Amino acid sequence: MFEFREEPGEGTGAVAAAPLTVLSVDDDQAFQQSLRLALSDFRFNDSPLRLLTASSAAEAEALLADHPDVSAILLDVVMETDDAGLRLVRAVREQLGNSEVRIVLVTGQPGMAPMQQTLEQLDISDYWLKTDLYRERLRGIVTGTLRTWREIRALGRAKRGLQQIVQAGRQLAGLRDLGEFSRHVLLELAELLEVPPDGLLCVRVDQRDAPPASARLVGAAGRFAPLAMRPLQDIDDPMIRDLLLEALTRRTAIGTPSSQVLFFDGGGLAPQAAVYLATERSLDEEEHELLRVFATHANAGLVSVDLAARLDQVAYQDGLLGIPNGNALQRELELVLAEPHPRERSLLVVDLDQYTHVSLALGPEQGDLLLKDMARRLHQVYPPPCLVARLHEGTFGVLGPSAALAVDPVAALEQGDGEHVLPFLGVDAVRVDLDEYRGAARGAVAAGLTLLRKLRAGGAHGLVEYRAEAEAENRARFLESRALYQAVREDRITIELQPQVSLEDGAIVGAEVLARWNEDGVPVPPARFIPIAEASGLIVPLGQRVIEQACGALRAMAQAGFPDVPVSVNVSPLQLRRREFAEELVELLGRHGIAPHRLEIEITEGAVMSDYQAGREMLARLRRLGFPIAVDDFGTGYSSLRYVHSLPVTRLKLDRHFTAEIGAGGAESSVADMIIALGRRLDLGVVAEGVETRSQAEWLRTHGCSCGQGYLFARPEPLEAFIARLRAAPLAG
Ligand code: C2E
Ligand code: CA
Ligand code: CA
Repeated sequence: MFEFREEPGEGTGAVAAAPLTVLSVDDDQAFQQSLRLALSDFRFNDSPLRLLTASSAAEAEALLADHPDVSAILLDVVMETDDAGLRLVRAVREQLGNSEVRIVLVTGQPGMAPMQQTLEQLDISDYWLKTDLYRERLRGIVTGTLRTWREIRALGRAKRGLQQIVQAGRQLAGLRDLGEFSRHVLLELAELLEVPPDGLLCVRVDQRDAPPASARLVGAAGRFAPLAMRPLQDIDDPMIRDLLLEALTRRTAIGTPSSQVLFFDGGGLAPQAAVYLATERSLDEEEHELLRVFATHANAGLVSVDLAARLDQVAYQDGLLGIPNGNALQRELELVLAEPHPRERSLLVVDLDQYTHVSLALGPEQGDLLLKDMARRLHQVYPPPCLVARLHEGTFGVLGPSAALAVDPVAALEQGDGEHVLPFLGVDAVRVDLDEYRGAARGAVAAGLTLLRKLRAGGAHGLVEYRAEAEAENRARFLESRALYQAVREDRITIELQPQVSLEDGAIVGAEVLARWNEDGVPVPPARFIPIAEASGLIVPLGQRVIEQACGALRAMAQAGFPDVPVSVNVSPLQLRRREFAEELVELLGRHGIAPHRLEIEITEGAVMSDYQAGREMLARLRRLGFPIAVDDFGTGYSSLRYVHSLPVTRLKLDRHFTAEIGAGGAESSVADMIIALGRRLDLGVVAEGVETRSQAEWLRTHGCSCGQGYLFARPEPLEAFIARLRAAPLAG
């Protein structure tokens, strides 16, 4: 797997090995001199010897601190003091923490020999009398000592190297990004070989038969850093480029006296990779062994990075368009929203309504072409750093600097650039200023989509801006709908009754039943909670409870001696739309023993008109069953006058705005006049709502309106108060 190559052009022959350093510490100058002579042409294997000398323990300590590469020390035991030598050994082992350097003690006095125990403790290799050290023996001792040193150092290095590799392997396996991965490989490799991080990682993205020359550089360190992400061909140095190419082509690692090239085969799954590392020296056998282990780990890391990248692609890319998808946009949004204000970033949600129609009418291929065109155009209008993502169907999201997103997508897209498959029609968009937006990332896209739906539901078209207040209002409504749900479930919705009075004689002729909700003792106005109930569907169970309580009220009134006074209930179109509504109503009245003519159904004019056909059928059915039906808020919907004759209704309730206009003078009172006349012509009763003054009541009476409801007569009140009022009132005549 590894092969070694000599530097081209430098000729053959042995490469000079690095010298080995030996330190002699002795205050005896004569001994130092003879030592130098004895070792003058000494070589260990191929390495020459460098001899350092010190004449005191203090001097030696300073030298050792500067030269951690000293392999062996020949040390005189007795110098400044009797134990100066042993103290130095302690300093080397314990303070300098150098456990690899070999130490040979020498002494002139046989009596000064240290104890065997001390020798072992301090890891002293040998102990010699100077008189025994003739030339050949000295050279033998140095050779043996250096051999031991080399073995110990190799063991230490292998151990450290393996620890490093295990650690690096663990880290590499956790990386998900190829760029980051390659940076780590280079750094770890440099550290392992104790060389400066000066290298390149190149990857051959294996599109099967793509030539190795098409590989690109994904990582670069040191002097190569500017080459990151460039093609392999951009390396100026032909030697480095060729080495990388050769490693990729021959699928092998290559060593030279100044560099090392590793090869990773990617396990046959991931792309193949090669690393070039400038070592400026040749590596020894142990280092090659370490590199083999390292390569295995790095290869596993490469496979996992590649797998992560491919998973990423599946999870974060739109399959059809090859652009980021909703998840990717979400991920970016999270990063942006984690930043402090001002973020100066915006989100656009752009929808091409036409997509669905085109797909249905012209086939899915045409729909796909339209989408591709849309993506291309969006990239054009919002170039990087804007992120264009497809969310679903014809809906796209664009995230980018607010300044770039100031361009109106509706105008830009519908105008086109003349290269379209089809012209873009029906583009709608919502812009969310992310400095304005408060909430989680998921909510931002959802808020955009909701606004888009609202825009469409309202029949509008174009670009709308997201407003935080609208969002806050939505949130408040959501919280209220939950509280209302609880209230309905716990049966805390009550009713009040507001009398309807004959304008002729002041007799009470009926009452309107109105829903009431107190939350924490505070009344919530129906104008607030009824729309929420309508929007959430809660109006159905709520309305049901109101009708049940109205039946209870009718029974109580009958028991109190007023069996003929009817009441009206407000019924929402959502209630009417349920097929079983009429049956349930009949069943309920039967249970309470109440005749249908005593329960008037009030339905707002707008509601009847918007759901014209279905609503009319249900009304007709209720009418046939004997229920009186009133059109509430009459006059506020413009179509009413034209259609009212065909509706199966019995009464019109003049909206209180028209009542309010009475007495204010001017031509406005003619609306009330007209409605009263219409009622008379169609033989429908008319009730005037919101009668607050005597003059209004008087005007209504003289214009032929026989019935009124309003604060002038009574405010809505609980059942007991209403029954008391019935008892006190003049009898209907
Ligand atoms: P509405 O059906 O038009 O009910 C009449 C509203 O006018 C009541 O308001 C009543 O208190 C108020 N009103 C009565 N006399 C006067 C007056 O002289 N001046 C003024 N300015 N207002 C007067 P409330 O109770 O707040 O109800 C508001 C609306 O809530 C009702 O309008 C009705 O549309 C809806 N609502 C109330 N209860 C129910 C219910 O049980 N079901 C349904 N679907 N809607 C209900
Ligand atoms: Ca009403
Ligand atoms: Ca009304």
